[in-house]
Amino acid sequence: MSKDQEKHQQRQEKLKASVDAKVEDAQIEKGLLLVITGNGKGKSTAGFGNVARATGHGYKATVAQFIKGGWECGERNLLQNSGVEFATMATGFTWETQNRELDTQAAQEVWQKCKQWLADPSIYLVLLDEITYMLSYDYLDVEEVVAAIQQRPAEQSVVVTGRACHRKVMDIADTISEVKNVKHAFESGIKARQGIDW
Ligand code: ATP
Ligand code: MG
Repeated sequence: MSKDQEKHQQRQEKLKASVDAKVEDAQIEKGLLLVITGNGKGKSTAGFGNVARATGHGYKATVAQFIKGGWECGERNLLQNSGVEFATMATGFTWETQNRELDTQAAQEVWQKCKQWLADPSIYLVLLDEITYMLSYDYLDVEEVVAAIQQRPAEQSVVVTGRACHRKVMDIADTISEVKNVKHAFESGIKARQGIDW
């Protein structure tokens, strides 16, 4: 074995030992709160990826869509056919409607469904897609949302997506990923694309 190869092998062995030790240490089993936030593209895509993953294992998953309600979207077409229950906001994009009262009412309707899910131990995963905006606009009460998430069944996981996630939600999260915008096609004048953007 060359000196280089030997060095590489030693490094790999060290790395493996450290990873093995961490795997050994991680013994807690519980449902998680995951937050996927930031300004880059990929937050909802990641959330739906988790729904697909849980559903693929035969678990029950549900999805609340707090913004794209009125829109057609590929993931809803697919996942509803696989038994995933959806609750979508009746008014669609809030910045189009600009009607605070109607938007609050629509957000509250979806939230009532979420509260039922967050109290149902038969549900393994709840995706709260774009809920961060409902908290920023004060359409939903952050204390109420945090309490419902905290009091959920021990085995249930929750995924929260959206930009500028509220500090109080981040504080109770187990995993937080921030998707950074490096480049987005839209900035080069490229239209949102079916199957890529929705
Ligand atoms: P996706 O649903 O594609 O995972 P996202 O959930 O991370 O995106 P949102 O803020 O929910 O992002 O925006 C949804 C839509 O806006 C998508 O069509 C997405 O491609 C687009 N988008 C996301 N990030 C950006 C950006 N930085 N600039 C322009 N458009 C964006
Ligand atoms: Mg999104």
